[in-house]
Amino acid sequence: MSGKGGVGKSTVAAYTALYLSKEGHRVGLLDVDLHGPTIPHLLNISGWLEIPQKGVVKPYRFSDNLEVVSIEMVLGDRDAAIIWRGPLKISAIRQFISDIEWGGLDYLVIDSPPGTGDEPLTIAQTIPDAEALIVTTPQEISLADVRKSITFCRQVNMKILGVVENMSAFKCPHCNKPINLFGSGGGAKLSRHMNVALLGEIPMDTSLMDLGDRGRLDKLVSENALEVTKAYRKIIDRIR
Ligand code: ADP
Repeated sequence: MSGKGGVGKSTVAAYTALYLSKEGHRVGLLDVDLHGPTIPHLLNISGWLEIPQKGVVKPYRFSDNLEVVSIEMVLGDRDAAIIWRGPLKISAIRQFISDIEWGGLDYLVIDSPPGTGDEPLTIAQTIPDAEALIVTTPQEISLADVRKSITFCRQVNMKILGVVENMSAFKCPHCNKPINLFGSGGGAKLSRHMNVALLGEIPMDTSLMDLGDRGRLDKLVSENALEVTKAYRKIIDRIR
């Protein structure tokens, strides 16, 4: 979850799913951001959901261990807009969870749209033991909305795994000094004030943005030496 859009929530969801699947876990990645699905773009998926026989719908198989479902795989058109009210959205998300034949999964990673609307609420009601990972950037304007996400989780009894601060610092390629483009310490402050775990801080990295743009986020999973991948590994270890 996130309070605001553009904080890197889909990237965190996709990277986490890729990493866990590369480690040998069977992982599902479900994109319930119906109005702005990003997962197919990050992973360069242009395929459809598989319908081997009437009434059976299978997720898109990205790799041996990773299955993916997004609304885009039903519409087939990257530029199509979903103009749906709550009941339709709720019904689509429920079908994604219960009518799709996911393999026996170890993890289901769900990318929810920003905010506390129908989508996360449907997840909370359909998967009572779902746990929330909340992504924020360090500045106050993002943290203010994250506090709402935390309150939402507490009200619907969704356990909070913790908060991830993304785009923490940017290392200057010339002098190697960190530049805090969006401020610093916001995640830690939030963690103290709201009594949630801070799972880690992910630095800004242009290679991550570039690979995401090109739909090759999967390439980053085999890079072990980058600050950004080290930060991700620490966070995923803590999630486990
Ligand atoms: P959200 O799902 O919160 O809307 P996205 O995951 O789509 O956010 O990310 C928004 C943009 O920020 C994307 O272009 C993505 O590549 C970029 N991005 C995310 N995390 C980082 C990071 N740590 N460093 C650099 N760019 C990032």
